[in-house]
This record gives sequence, C-alpha cells and structure tokens, in this order.
Amino acid sequence: MSQNIISLLPDSVANQIAAGEVVQRPSSAVKELLENSIDAGAHKIQLIVKDAGKSLIQVIDDGKGMSEVDTRMAFERHATSKIRTAEDIFRIRTMGFRGEALASIAAVAQVEIRTRQEGVDLGNELRIEGTRVTHTGFCQTPVGTNLSVRNLFFNIPARRNFLKSNQVELKHIIDEFERVALANPEVEMTLVHNQNELFHLLPGNLKQRIIGILGRKYSERIVPVEESTEVVSLKGFVMKPEFARKTRGEQFFFVNDRYIKNPYLHHAVTDAFEDLVAPDQHPGYILFLDIDPSRIDVNIHPTKTEIKFEDEKAIYAILRSSIKHALGQFNIRPTIDFESDTNSQAPPIRPGQAIRLPGIEVDPNYNPFSSESKSIPKGEPSQKSTWNIPSKPSPKGWESMFTSPERETSIPEPETGLFSHPDQDEEPPTPVQLDRTYILYPHEQGILVIHQNRAHQRVLFEAYLKSLRSQAAASQQLLFPVNLEFSANDYSMLESCMDDLRSLGFDIESFGQNSVILHGIPVHMNEPEIPSALEQIIEELKNSANDIGRSRMEAIAATLARASAIKVGTILDTQEMLHLVVQWNRCTEPGYSPGGKPVSYLLSLQEIAKRLN
Ligand code: ADP
Ligand code: MG
Repeated sequence: MSQNIISLLPDSVANQIAAGEVVQRPSSAVKELLENSIDAGAHKIQLIVKDAGKSLIQVIDDGKGMSEVDTRMAFERHATSKIRTAEDIFRIRTMGFRGEALASIAAVAQVEIRTRQEGVDLGNELRIEGTRVTHTGFCQTPVGTNLSVRNLFFNIPARRNFLKSNQVELKHIIDEFERVALANPEVEMTLVHNQNELFHLLPGNLKQRIIGILGRKYSERIVPVEESTEVVSLKGFVMKPEFARKTRGEQFFFVNDRYIKNPYLHHAVTDAFEDLVAPDQHPGYILFLDIDPSRIDVNIHPTKTEIKFEDEKAIYAILRSSIKHALGQFNIRPTIDFESDTNSQAPPIRPGQAIRLPGIEVDPNYNPFSSESKSIPKGEPSQKSTWNIPSKPSPKGWESMFTSPERETSIPEPETGLFSHPDQDEEPPTPVQLDRTYILYPHEQGILVIHQNRAHQRVLFEAYLKSLRSQAAASQQLLFPVNLEFSANDYSMLESCMDDLRSLGFDIESFGQNSVILHGIPVHMNEPEIPSALEQIIEELKNSANDIGRSRMEAIAATLARASAIKVGTILDTQEMLHLVVQWNRCTEPGYSPGGKPVSYLLSLQEIAKRLN
C-alpha cells in the first residue's frame, strides 16, 4: 500500500524560512523599514537602534499610516499594497512590492506597531511575536507609523549567535541608512544609536545631503555629473581623482532611487577614471540612474541590490562618457600625471601631498626614526640610485645578484638576533644605503640586505603592541591641539578604538558632531602624518571587521607602524642606519614586516664566492 508523506509547512515555519532570505541581520530589517517609510510618503524618518539593532530597531515616520485592517494584513506573507497584478511588477516605482518584509521580520522578532492615518482620531496598535499576534487595540499616536522590532532572532538562537560584533552590525546599519538618505535628500532623517545621535540630516538637495553624510570637506571634493538620453537619465557626483581611496568606500549606484550593486557599471566608472587614479585606489561616486522600470529586472534577488538591464551596453557607454566629460569640464584630467612615477617603487606623489625636503634636525630629542626628516621623491634622474658612499666606485654587475632567484628564499633565521649587536667595545661595521631602500650591513656570513621601511615597520609594530598591552605609552604634547572631522560612519569606527589609541600615546577626545580633538600624539609620530594615519586605521578596522585572524590591537599597531615608518626613498645617514639595524635586531620577530613581507636577505659569502668564481 502506498503511503503519503508530504504535508504543507505551517505558516510560522514557512515565514521563518522566508525570513532567512529577507532578514539576515539587523541592517536588513532597517533597510526594509526605512523603505516602507519612504514608500508611505514620509517627510521625516527617525531611526532609533540599541545595541546595533540587536535589542531594538525602531522607525518612526510621518507617512500615510495604515487602517485597522491593513495593520493586521501588513504582517501576512505576500501582503502588499504596492502591486495587484503580475504586470505591475514591470511598472514598479516603490521600494517594496513583494509584501514579505513585515511578515519575515515578525517571524523572527517581537514587533510592535502604532499607526494612524490622517483624519482618523485613533490609531491602531498591534503586537506580534514570532508570527503570533499577542495584542491588538486602539491608541493615541501621531499620524504616521511607529514600528519597533525587539530582540531580533530571539526564537532562532543559532542566527542570533551568528551576528557579528556591535561595531560590525552598526556599520551595516549606517550603510543602509546612508543609502536611503542619499536617495531621498528631501526627507529629514535622524539616526540615534544607544542614545547618541549619529546623524541628523535636514531636508535639502543632493549635494547638501552628501555633505551631511560624508562631511563638510566633501563640498570641495565632488564634481557633478549629468546626462539625459532616451535610455537613461543620469545625475549625481563623482569624487575628484585625488581623493580616491585605498578601499572602496564611497561608491553608490542608485537605479530609480534604489541602491544597487553592479560590477559592470562600476567598471564603466573606473574606466572613466583610468590613468587618473593609481591602480590600487578606488574612485568615489554617488550616481543616480533613472531608467524605465519595464527595461530592468529588479526581481532577481530577494534583497534587491542586484539588477539586470536590457540596455546594459548603452548604459555603460553613456556612464563612461558622461563621467569623462564631467572630469574634463572641471579641468581635472590634465593636472595629474601618474605615468612619470611608474618605474619607481615609491608611492606616487600626488598633487597637494607634502613633499619633505632634506633638512638638519636640531631638536635634542631627535628621533632618527621619525620619517619627517629627509624623505624626497625618488626617481629624479640626477640622483638615481647608487651606493650611498660617493668615494667608492659602484661594483659592476652587482645588480644581477639581487635579482637572482634565490633572493626570495634565503631569509635569515628569525629566532635569535641575526648577529651580535654592536656594543661599545667593538666598532660596529658601517652600513651603507642602496637605492634609498635597502641597508647593506656586513655580517659574518655575508652581507645582510635590510629593507629599511619594513625593518622600521617591524620595530614600530612591536613597540606599539607593547604600549597597547601595557597601556602606557609615551605621548608628545602638541603645541596647538588639532581638530579633525569625520563622516559619521568613520567616526563610529574611530570611537570604538579610542581607548586603544590612548594606549598608543594619542591624547584624543570626542569633540562633538563626529569630530575629535588631539592634544598629544605618540612619540614616534609626526603631526602631519596624523590625519592620514587615523584614516588608515579606520579603513583597516573596516576591512578587518570580519577578519578574526588578527586581533584588533595588532591591526591598529600594524597600521600605525605602516603610517609612521621610514619610507622607501628616505636617505639615511650612517648613524640612523646603525640605530635602525640595532633596534630591528632586538625585535622578537625580525624576519617579517607586520604585513608579512620579508624584511631582510642574506647574501652569503658562499654565494658571493660562487658568483665571483
Ligand atoms: P512591501 O513593502 O513589499 O509591500 P512590506 O511587508 O514591507 O511589503 O509591507 C507590507 C505593507 O504594509 C505595505 O505594502 C504597506 O501597505 C504597509 N506598510 C508597511 N510599512 C508601512 C509604513 N511605514 N507606513 C504605511 N504603510 C506601511
Ligand atoms: Mg516593504
């Protein structure tokens, strides 16, 4: 006899499964709720979160509200007011239309809603917990909707445990908030996290909104882009090439005001910036494409950040040429030339970047390892690299030795010091500098070639780590305190590592509205390096947010070491080289830079003998 084993899943289970697609983390709920408020025609939206959305996500809007029946209906799966027929999908202009968000959120959290429509005296109140309605009634509430989501994933511990640190989850929330805020500059928007107001964005135009989000300094950094064709209307801004960043941060595409990701269109933008930004840097852009909804397919992904276009190639070409045009119009293209530096190992010198000239330090506390002193750009023909001792002739043929294949493999053993370090009794060997990059140090087994920048990074890295662990670092007071402003997102990153920064010797305090004030800095650093060092720390924290391999302290120490180490291209005198070699030799792990690159190479006597045979 045959047996029937198939049954329909109960709604609560089906909703939980569906929820997995829509609500992956607090920021997904934030996105859905903000978009609902936009769809409801709100002029003002407040987002309130606690513990990065893990305990509370609340959205209060002044939109059109819901009727009593709709309040209940809104939480049913596939319940939407935005489409009625399948064809409607091809005309969609609203953010939502699948009718899944509220049902999904309610399946995995405790939700409370209060909502009232214009012209109705009493509002409606509903509480729902893991799909179960626990309360309905009337209430007094302003026109609009006030919806709270508490204890997300309270009924799915596995998912809750899977959430990342508050810092990471908050960053995702800020990202979503920024996307909605950029697409809707005419809507007043606030974001409050654990009682702190992170954003208060007043209604305005797109430029004002960008500045409100990214910071005032962006007003000088952005160039407008505008183009209108049959296929697409384009508007927005691109960042001037000199403000390209090492990490992809400020890259926003919106199609019909919906934030999307599209590698193909991204390529069109980077192509327009070709030659204008260094290969490891990413141009910034905030671009809005308006396209007939029937010529796109937004329905291919439940969270809808991916999109397909019918006229992809045409859009690519229009995008690329409009950006080139915009950059050209603002006279940006001719002023920058990276080509001149391509053969040099030094990072490209960019316009406006301070170039440090050789100088004599008279400071009695002079620290030979502050990189301020003598960095000059490499690659000038008149000073092309040679041994740094003019009296000795350059040995012919030495270059080939340094390119021999063994170079990578024979890194000196890192365990003990590489050599007995010079002391008073013994006259230390004289190091020489090669190509403003390497220190050549005579060694009993040959010649040690030491990468000056990596060796110094190693020295500083271990010193910074020590300060971080002991929480006692030397700080130098600044004559004039420095005030630095950040975007809200960057500021929240910085704030999260303020204590670590203090342990490193930063005398740093919050100074209201996403800014900090610095009264002192670590002794190894120079004041001009500070803004970029802090930016690099923020970038590093963003990138390492998901990376558990390396501790946060190590990431900060490595970033600071990189920012303040002697650069390639800096001329060092014998004393400075000796000092560096001695300090480096004392490191616990001298073999590798904090970034994992080899620091030194031993050209052995045997090798030399073999070559000169
Ligand atoms: P969708 O947005 O795809 O329609 P949702 O589950 O997000 O699906 O919302 C269901 C319905 O609830 C919406 O279609 C809308 O009618 C109503 N709704 C949700 N949020 C709000 C709000 N903030 N103000 C007014 N109506 C809302
Ligand atoms: Mg929705």
